[in-house]
Amino acid sequence: MLNVHESDVDVMIGLECHVQLNKLNTKLFCGCSSDYQNDPPNTHTCPVCLGLPGALPVINRKAVECGIKVALALNCTIQEETLFYRKNYYYPDLPRGFQISQYDFPLATGGIVHLEGEKGREIRINRVHIEEDPGRLVHKGAIEQAKYTMVDYNRSGMPLLEIVTEPDLKSPQEARQFLNKIRNILEYLDVFDGNLEGSLRVDANLSIEGGQRTEVKNISSYKGAERALLFELTRQKNILRRGKKVVQETRHFDEARGITISLRTKEVEHDYRYFPEPDLVVMRVGGWVREIERSLPELPDAKLDRFLREYGVSPVHAKVLTSNIHLANFFEGVASMIDPAFCTRWIADILKGELNYRGVGVERIAQPDFIDLMKLLEEDKITDHGAIEVIRTILDHGGDVGEIVREKGLLKAEIDETEIAVNAVIEEFKGAVDDYRSGKREALNFLVGQVMKKTRGRADPDHANKLLIGRIED
Ligand SMILES: [Zn+2]
Repeated sequence: MLNVHESDVDVMIGLECHVQLNKLNTKLFCGCSSDYQNDPPNTHTCPVCLGLPGALPVINRKAVECGIKVALALNCTIQEETLFYRKNYYYPDLPRGFQISQYDFPLATGGIVHLEGEKGREIRINRVHIEEDPGRLVHKGAIEQAKYTMVDYNRSGMPLLEIVTEPDLKSPQEARQFLNKIRNILEYLDVFDGNLEGSLRVDANLSIEGGQRTEVKNISSYKGAERALLFELTRQKNILRRGKKVVQETRHFDEARGITISLRTKEVEHDYRYFPEPDLVVMRVGGWVREIERSLPELPDAKLDRFLREYGVSPVHAKVLTSNIHLANFFEGVASMIDPAFCTRWIADILKGELNYRGVGVERIAQPDFIDLMKLLEEDKITDHGAIEVIRTILDHGGDVGEIVREKGLLKAEIDETEIAVNAVIEEFKGAVDDYRSGKREALNFLVGQVMKKTRGRADPDHANKLLIGRIED
């Protein structure tokens, strides 16, 4: 990677985020099930989403509702009248030869997203519109060398929202921050599962020092967006350094190699010949918008503010806890049973760290289990070290707190009692200890039996076994 200092040049980045509304039951214009991710190719299709002649689209009301929710959450103005257009181009993943999208009269315009909390930098949203997803091309190998390509139409007709920003982002890192914020808002609204393949795709444009902008197409991950933009920034800087000019062009991001490749220059830019879709009527949303607005859940910035006020957590902890709706709900559930100041550290620092390390979500650990564990800590029945071991065990192998604590002998009382018994047995039965040391392994069973007897069966035999071996072989 070349050395990049963002601060030494004037950078302008704009994003077009294509977000799949993948929590709806059906596609945008037909009744095909949208839950296709684990199914064989071309099994979720019908005449409409295969683009067969004469098949007519019918708009999915729920998709429009989700679109309005998202647009409101991004502080956009919902347009009274909104129209669908045909975007004409030929591509194998687009069987009709046009994509139904929006153009002159998008669903919503003019929004604002704050990068961090309500006081963070404002990124302007130009528009939010609804469109259908094309099918998916599966290249056999890298895109430029593929021997052949297959088409899967399961994705064809999936509802997409396109969220277009003004070029207000100032660095690749900010672009990633923005995408995280968008993902967070979408998950709060429960319209989007960001873990599904292809759920978010980004086209990013970047220019430096007021020069021509280049557009990088089809970046398919959050990290990918930052990497693609970093590469593009370095590339453009090197062009300027050599005294040349950046040409306006569209580039492809090769995720595996982390580089962008020229696809086409301005001279061959597409003319999509947009015209209104004659098979769909003008949509008038009117009073419905107010109704949807009233149903909006609490959004990340508002929740962050409330956590600061209601639970007295630090700004850093509030940010972590509200960075994901599932984590926020998890915290509130635990905080209703356990002192918030106490459980905040355990959730925002320790649990979150263990989750991040494994790349898994908080749903990996059940809330009642975690509450049980916090109670053990509050009552001083388990050490911090023991509690962390329980969390790690649950995240890696599952199981419940009581069982894990018992199996591993993590209760403080048990630890003490077993340890005392082990020490006493070693003192009392020196003969058996010597036998074990001289290689009579079965002497250990006798010693474990004595420990069990002394603790009246309360010790965990495996644990006693380990303790004995540790002590004798010391
Ligand atoms: Zn269909």
